[in-house]
Amino acid sequence: MNLISQIKELKNKISGKINFHENLSKYSWFNLGGPAKVIFKPMNLNELSLFLKSINEFDKIKVLGAGSNTLIRDGGFDGIIIKLGKSFSHLSLLDKNTIIAGASAFDKNVSNFALENSLTGFEFLSCIPGTIGGGVRMNSGCYGEDFEKILVSVQVMDFQGKMRVIYSSDIKFSYRGCNLENNLIFVSATFKGKSENKINIQKKMNNLIKQKNGDQPTKIKTCGSTFKNPENNKAWKLIKDSGCGGMRVGDAYISEKHCNFFINKGKATSKDLEDLISEVKSKVFNKTGINLELELQIIGEKT
Ligand SMILES: Cc1cc2nc3c(=O)[nH]c(=O)nc-3n(C[C@H](O)[C@H](O)[C@H](O)COP(=O)(O)OP(=O)(O)OC[C@H]3O[C@@H](n4cnc5c(N)ncnc54)[C@H](O)[C@@H]3O)c2cc1C
Repeated sequence: MNLISQIKELKNKISGKINFHENLSKYSWFNLGGPAKVIFKPMNLNELSLFLKSINEFDKIKVLGAGSNTLIRDGGFDGIIIKLGKSFSHLSLLDKNTIIAGASAFDKNVSNFALENSLTGFEFLSCIPGTIGGGVRMNSGCYGEDFEKILVSVQVMDFQGKMRVIYSSDIKFSYRGCNLENNLIFVSATFKGKSENKINIQKKMNNLIKQKNGDQPTKIKTCGSTFKNPENNKAWKLIKDSGCGGMRVGDAYISEKHCNFFINKGKATSKDLEDLISEVKSKVFNKTGINLELELQIIGEKT
């Protein structure tokens, strides 16, 4: 039986949504991307496990969080997209310093939850427009903080539908990444903070948000920083100094406010963005000898 027939049979056994050939553009902050062969939104862990155990083709599965760091190609995704919905966005206190957050919880909501519970360490999450799952994968962070500093463990399901817990001490984090295998779906994560006065936490959050809004453009179709900062350097500065300011391909632009933010001004294609990325990368290399590395994740098929 082929994959689609296997999945069609499953549809009767689960209450989560399974869609075929749905356009993915609404699942990325760039608002771009062609259709996925299958998109599955499980209602709970049992369904997710049943789904994974029932399909034989594991080669092409991708989990999406808020899509705030993912460019989906115009040809769509020739495989299964798993999107964890609201039922994976729970927040709770395990003890007075420990938060358990579902993988689809927005970082901002975790930051607010920590504030309500007088826990510091989570303020930077108010500046990152992603989910906990995406944040663990990317080791997201800003202003000297990142996921590594607060993570205790991550609860994962592998593509065979089996659950396990991975402790932070067993994960090798790097700048905007970690060595967790790609065949893992993070379903929740446990974090540790420190007790602090709510007024101080709120003040810190406000300062970070103010700084962020001053430094970076808001309310645009972007996925944040396109390239990682090379050691002892800033990607935006290298881009600017290489004369890339104002560059565009079709409707894909470089932000005037922050050169490392690339934007879909409305009618760009994913190819326009990828072409702009390549042009900037080679201009920076020719000028500085530095090979910029992508922070942005690119998935899917070229047209
Ligand atoms: C305006 C703007 C500002 C930003 N500022 C920052 C910043 O200050 N610092 C920073 O680090 N980033 C920043 N980003 C980038 C982005 O918000 C982060 O990388 C964020 O953590 C991505 O989360 P997401 O849920 O959107 O992940 P997605 O883009 O959906 O996915 C990113 C990666 O995580 C994987 N993933 C997602 N969920 C799961 C899961 N449950 N299980 C397994 N893998 C999963 C995906 O497969 C993919 O590989 C910014 C983006 C924007 C648009």
